[in-house]
Amino acid sequence: MKTSINETLKSATRRLTDSGIDSPRLDAEVLLAHVLNCRRLDLYVDAEKILPLEKILRFNELISRRLEGMPVAYLTGTREFMGLKFSVTPDVLIPRPDTEIVTEFVGEFLRALNREVTFADIGTGSGAICVSILKFIKLARSCAVDVSSKALEVAELNARKFHVDDRIEFFCGDMFAPLSGKIFDAIVSNPPYIPTGELETLQAEVQSEPTLALDGGTDGLTFYRRLADASPKFLSSGGLLAVEVGINQASTVKDLFTRAGFVDVEILRDLSGIERVVCGRKIS
Ligand code: SAM
Ligand code: GLN
Repeated sequence: MKTSINETLKSATRRLTDSGIDSPRLDAEVLLAHVLNCRRLDLYVDAEKILPLEKILRFNELISRRLEGMPVAYLTGTREFMGLKFSVTPDVLIPRPDTEIVTEFVGEFLRALNREVTFADIGTGSGAICVSILKFIKLARSCAVDVSSKALEVAELNARKFHVDDRIEFFCGDMFAPLSGKIFDAIVSNPPYIPTGELETLQAEVQSEPTLALDGGTDGLTFYRRLADASPKFLSSGGLLAVEVGINQASTVKDLFTRAGFVDVEILRDLSGIERVVCGRKIS
């Protein structure tokens, strides 16, 4: 049987809808465009084109994996962040639009210093935060740390992809352990922040991301305590600590920063008014 792009999309969208997938048509289009190596727009331009059997089989395989809860970004191997198409694998958290807030904020802080600057990204994952900052701030250099060597491979790939690999050093280890003796103008982190007990209540998509990237300990705040306590030793005077936080964590994290001696501690909100970032300065 000969099947057109339009019919293929319609039947996949129906299957995804029946399984309760949130954005069925979009997912089907992104996956088919991936298989055909074309833009989504082309699927409309060529709607009546008949698809070769091998493409249909490949597409159906991806749809089946999507139906099992595999996120689209892992199926296509890419996710856009800060306007850059990052490579992703199931070894890294899929970069979220929410994380652009902390990325832009730290980037602007470093840009305003108007000199050569250094920063550390703790728990770099795909490298989304530090690679984006380096791409936009040419006078910046960075140390990126992750406890997962597999994640670091993806971050290194992205650093090369966006030509910032000459300004970034990668370290595998536990938070600040590999950074002994180094001093930064800023430290940024989007640490794991989901309370351990909530991990199994997450959507199937999020559950297919690495637990290591999500598990923030019993109350979700383990990494914020460690960041607040350890960062001052690694910051220049006036240096910035900025972290992404989960829903309802901002005021507790703000208190942790204040108690650790940070000044000008502030909470930043995202475009929907949700508290997303806590930042503070090391006293001069
Ligand atoms: N920065 C990326 C982003 O915003 O998309 C990834 C953030 S993900 C929420 C947290 C990252 O922290 C994961 O890549 C995880 O492997 C890493 N991580 C977890 N425990 C760590 C530790 N003790 N030391 C360093 N990195 C750690
Ligand atoms: N933003 C992710 C989520 O809520 C969690 C990432 C993290 O723990 N930093 O699904």
